[in-house]
Amino acid sequence: MHIDSIVIYFALILVGLVMGSFAGASVWRLRARQLVQDKHNCEHVDHSEYMSLKKLTKSTLSHDRSQCLHCSYTLKWYDLIPLLSWINLRGRCRQCREPIGFMEPLIEIGVVVFFVLSYMYWPYPLNDTLETVRLLLWLIAGVGLAILFVYDTKWYLLPDKVNFAVIGIGILSALSVFINSNDKVGTLINIAGSVFILSGIYLILYIYSKGKWIGFGDIKLGLGLGLLLADWELAFVALFAANLVGCLVVIPPMITGKLKRDSHVPFGPLLIIGTVIASLAGVYLLSSYSFYLP
Ligand SMILES: [Zn+2]
Repeated sequence: MHIDSIVIYFALILVGLVMGSFAGASVWRLRARQLVQDKHNCEHVDHSEYMSLKKLTKSTLSHDRSQCLHCSYTLKWYDLIPLLSWINLRGRCRQCREPIGFMEPLIEIGVVVFFVLSYMYWPYPLNDTLETVRLLLWLIAGVGLAILFVYDTKWYLLPDKVNFAVIGIGILSALSVFINSNDKVGTLINIAGSVFILSGIYLILYIYSKGKWIGFGDIKLGLGLGLLLADWELAFVALFAANLVGCLVVIPPMITGKLKRDSHVPFGPLLIIGTVIASLAGVYLLSSYSFYLP
């Protein structure tokens, strides 16, 4: 391996760990704010969850130190080293020894894997600034997607703040594609098609079912993802992959009777997995598919 790529991979792993750690902390803070707001709006809130997370809302995102949700122990710098601190403490709080949970290390590893695979399998040439900017925007968007993935899996909700951030990054990414293309009209149609497939279809379902089949959060997520892909064929691959993965996840517990017919399956994480597959393997999948066409 060339020395340059060793440096790049090392940087990707390091930045990935730090960003994963940030994503994990953001999940709890967003949840804490959500609970406070729900309580303010007189909605039903789980009391023990509210009490344990409430303390996180007092500090602002930029200058707070994370703390233990059980005993409020303020984490020192050596408790905040991504992955290593968790392994060193075997997933428990230094003071009260209560389990911290598996979410933090998993989200850190998840972001690192996303960063490394994205660089490894990025399907577009990285020979000019705009193309490199597009990859960087994709990596930044991935941090938001990691937050959305965990949040939706845990609480069946996609926070607006993160959704809008991903949409904003998606707009910049689509803009870089547009500026770089020779066929402006074709690119515009391509981006519009991508957005329609990943967001417009859900909007129609949402309006038709009056919000019963699908949440509005999925529509906003689809908009961000459609802009990031900026290609209607890839959007189609993403939708197909999301449904395929969904079936693989849902069918085994359905057969064993663990999943009831009215169980809620969050669609956000599936759509995110589908989009990552489409973005990194879609070009390859489409070209090998068209190879077999007459
Ligand atoms: Zn503790």
